[in-house]
Parts: sequence; C-alpha cells; structure tokens
Amino acid sequence: MRAAPRIAIVGAGIVGSAIAYFLAARGASVTLIDAAGPGAGVTDRAFGWINVALADPDGPGANFKHRVIDDYRKLDDRLHGRLNIAWQGALSWSDDPGRTEARFADLKRADHRVTLLDTAQVARLEPTLKSPPALAIFAPEDGMMRPGVSARVLAAAAMEAGAALRVGQAVDNIEPLPTGGVRLWLGNDRAEFDRVVLAAGAAVADLCRPLGLILPLEASPSILTRFRSPVPILNRIVESPEFEARMETPNYLVTAESYQGDRSDCGPEVVATGLRKALATGLTGGEALTLDSVQVGMRPVQVGCGPIVGRVPGSPCLYIAAFHPGVILAATIGGLVAQDMLDETVPTELEGLAPR
Ligand SMILES: Cc1cc2nc3c(=O)[nH]c(=O)nc-3n(C[C@H](O)[C@H](O)[C@H](O)COP(=O)(O)OP(=O)(O)OC[C@H]3O[C@@H](n4cnc5c(N)ncnc54)[C@H](O)[C@@H]3O)c2cc1C
Repeated sequence: MRAAPRIAIVGAGIVGSAIAYFLAARGASVTLIDAAGPGAGVTDRAFGWINVALADPDGPGANFKHRVIDDYRKLDDRLHGRLNIAWQGALSWSDDPGRTEARFADLKRADHRVTLLDTAQVARLEPTLKSPPALAIFAPEDGMMRPGVSARVLAAAAMEAGAALRVGQAVDNIEPLPTGGVRLWLGNDRAEFDRVVLAAGAAVADLCRPLGLILPLEASPSILTRFRSPVPILNRIVESPEFEARMETPNYLVTAESYQGDRSDCGPEVVATGLRKALATGLTGGEALTLDSVQVGMRPVQVGCGPIVGRVPGSPCLYIAAFHPGVILAATIGGLVAQDMLDETVPTELEGLAPR
C-alpha cells in the first residue's frame, strides 16, 4: 500500500481549514500551517452570510450556486452542529420597489428559492423595522455563522482526524523541488511535503510572485462593525439600502460595509458613526446600540475571473485555493479540492479555475 501523501496547507482561514478537514477525513497526512492561528485572518472579520439566492447569479460562485447551502448543511451534520449555523434566512430590498421586483424576477429566472414579501409580511419577520419596505426579497434558506469560530472548529476537526497544526511562523518562501514535492521555508526552518496547498487568503498573491506566478488576486478592504445591544433586535440577516446587519450573538449586532478610504471624512470610524445613526433610525432598539469595534479586513478578491483553485502550471505539487467569497464557498470548494487532490481527477465544478 502506498503511504498517504504528505500535504501541507498554508493558511488556516475558513478556506484552508475546510480543505484540511476534508483531506484529513479522507486519511491524507495533513499539516495545517498558519502564521497567526486558525481563523485569525480576514475570516475573523467576515459578516458570515451563507447565501446563494441573494448573491449575483452570475458572480464568482455561479458554478457552485446550487450546492453551497446543501454542502454547509452536510458539513455541519458531519461535525454534529459545531459550526452553529443559524438558518434563519435573509431579507433584502432596495429603496426602489421596482428594482427589488426586477431583482426578484432575475433570481426566480435563475431558479433561486426566494419569495417576494409585502410590508406586513416583512414586519412580521422583523418587527423592529420602523419602516418596513413595500417589497422585500426573502431567501429562507440563507444561513449565518461566525466565520472565525467556524474556521477554528474546522481546524480542530481536522486535528481530530489526524492533521497536525503548526502555528506562529509564516511561510516566507516556497520551493518546488525538481524531484517532485515542495520545500517550505519558515524563518530558519525548512519542511518538505509531497504537495502544498496555498490557502493564505490575500497573501497567496505575494507567496506566488517569487515563483513567477502573477495571480489575478487583490486584497480588497471591507469594514466589519460590531455594536453591543442590550437585547437581540433582529431575527435574521437584513440587507437594506442603509445597512447590512445581523445579530452575531444575542448581545452583539454586526454590520458589513464598503470601505471608502481612510481619510478623516470617510474612514472606518466615520462609517461606523453613520451606521450607528442608520440603525437607530431604522430599528426599534437601534438607539441603544453602542459601538464595540470597527475592523477592516482584506478580502482575497479575484480580478476578472472565478475562484482561483487548482494546480500551478509546471508545478503540479503546488495547489492554489484563493477566492472570494471564501466563507460562502469554503464547504463546497473544500470538499472539491480534497477530491481533486486525492482522486487525481478534476471535479467538473473546478474545471477552468486553475491558475494560468
Ligand atoms: C467586512 C467583511 C465582510 C465579509 N462578509 C462575507 C460574507 O458574508 N460571506 C463571505 O463568503 N465572505 C465574506 N467576506 C470575505 C471573507 O472574509 C473572505 O472571502 C474569506 O474569509 C477568505 O478566507 P481565507 O481562508 O481565504 O483567508 P484568511 O481568512 O485571510 O486566511 C488566510 C490565513 O493565512 C494565514 N497566512 C497568511 N500568510 C501566511 C504565510 N505567509 N504563512 C503562513 N500563514 C499565512 C493568515 O494568518 C490567515 O489565517 C467578508 C469580508 C469582510 C472584510
């Protein structure tokens, strides 16, 4: 019997931890390496919306759109509910009911399971909305979770399945070996593996550059704001023209917001102040929110292509898994990467996604 291949995964965010779990569960010899610790990267600053219905039907997750919810449900079953996903659904609308209706029609045409709700129906789902919209799209199957916690759960599950975790040292050089395999340089230390998966989020582009591989991947900032709330004031994800918000725990509300620069008139603190006002205006109980933290996270966003997933041309022992939205796609792509690496057949969904 051939020994299981020794596989290193660089990066223990939601993507690397999911891949580590699926590989270890299938008996691969896995070492998960992270400079800071599982779930310490942008994953810890993500909003945690597992959606498919409200995502752009032609966006980067389009290949996987009919699978992501089911794959998360299956993964969470395998982990006995430890991902703690709340499948409460999501409400979304724009300030023009005509646009909401048009988007709803697009989603229906693309076969998404969404319904269109009127004011009274929206108010029943979210009684704290002070001015429920005339029309809103409801995606009943969408879920929410705490991505940093989930990455740590997945890393722990990988270790329970036999993976080793190496934390506290960054990989600063990658050397594909002419005889096969890959050498990783971690400070003064070196380690060799049969295969290496680069899942270091936005840092993957920097790790690949010295190899002459320029990836269409950029670090794109986005803002996560956390407010303390004396009581829960939302039941599910609400994406309105004024805010995208959900309860993270009964006493914390989180919002995701676009980054507008760091000038004093539009920096993250200014954005948080604006959000606090919008939440106070829009929600009963919003006046009682107090700001807890404002964090900027750098998302690994592919430019002009789908997720970057597959073997490096000319270095088949080196595998890339870098993409946004990483939280939504981690359960699906994590399983497909394990299949690709261990069965040596590229799953149909991953065809055409390998770096060039
Ligand atoms: C405000 C905000 C809201 C978001 N909301 C959502 C959402 O609702 N749904 C969604 O799908 N996505 C969302 N995202 C995007 C999501 O956070 C990312 O797509 C996802 O977390 C990427 O995961 P990752 O594992 O690839 O990267 P990371 O979480 O960044 O993981 C990479 C890991 O690699 C490690 N690392 C880096 N360099 C090295 C090195 N040289 N050596 C060793 N280790 C290294 C880091 O320490 C880190 O732990 C959001 C992002 C932000 C900022």
